[in-house]
Amino acid sequence: MLKFLVDMFFPPLCHNCREFIPNAGRVHVCEKCLTTSRPIQSPMCSCCGIPFATDEGISHLCGNCIAKHPPFDAACGAYLYEGAVKELIHRFKYDGRVQCRRPLALLLLERLSGVVADFSPDLIIPVPLHKKRLRQRGFNQAILIGEVLAKEWRVPFERRLLQRIRWTEPQVNLAASERMANVKGAFALREPKLASGKRIVLVDDVLTTGSTVAECSNVLKKAGALAVIAVTVARVAEN
Ligand SMILES: [Zn+2]
Ligand SMILES: [Zn+2]
Repeated sequence: MLKFLVDMFFPPLCHNCREFIPNAGRVHVCEKCLTTSRPIQSPMCSCCGIPFATDEGISHLCGNCIAKHPPFDAACGAYLYEGAVKELIHRFKYDGRVQCRRPLALLLLERLSGVVADFSPDLIIPVPLHKKRLRQRGFNQAILIGEVLAKEWRVPFERRLLQRIRWTEPQVNLAASERMANVKGAFALREPKLASGKRIVLVDDVLTTGSTVAECSNVLKKAGALAVIAVTVARVAEN
């Protein structure tokens, strides 16, 4: 009731366009902005989560995942990396607007909580940054988003278990074929036994080719993780 009155007299601003939002829910991104980012829905690849070009039919494995099954069990993006979701991620990561973490985490929560509940995870792990990148940016976006998710899902959050031990070039600057080699051997676990026998959710802001989460999953599976899925706020539409 109090929140209703506060929203009526002081309506919240949209995190993206800064317009007032009457009847705002929890996310605080207005309808108009949200329509610029398409939610990812079936049919899509049941492993890497790439959306198929058609609206017809059911989800199944894509050609790439049939040819070589990734080390993760599934990768799920909430929205395509476009429009307001892309702008919010840019503001968050590159302009240091850390308050964007909440709407981004909530957008992920709204779409992927069901998948995560069905998966029934033991641990949530953020994709780590190299300490040089951490110094440049000042924060790890995957940790900030993951903290909100872990609290809502009531799942333990292990922010320091997985580490990035080698500097890698940003994946966006590389051809798809070079990305797996770029991240090979870039991750390690501080205490491998903590991953053994666990069902793990990896968290990141954006999934591009999936090479980064694939390499993280490799490390976790080698340490005996039972199952690994990756959840991201956004996903690019092509591998
Ligand atoms: Zn807006
Ligand atoms: Zn696939």
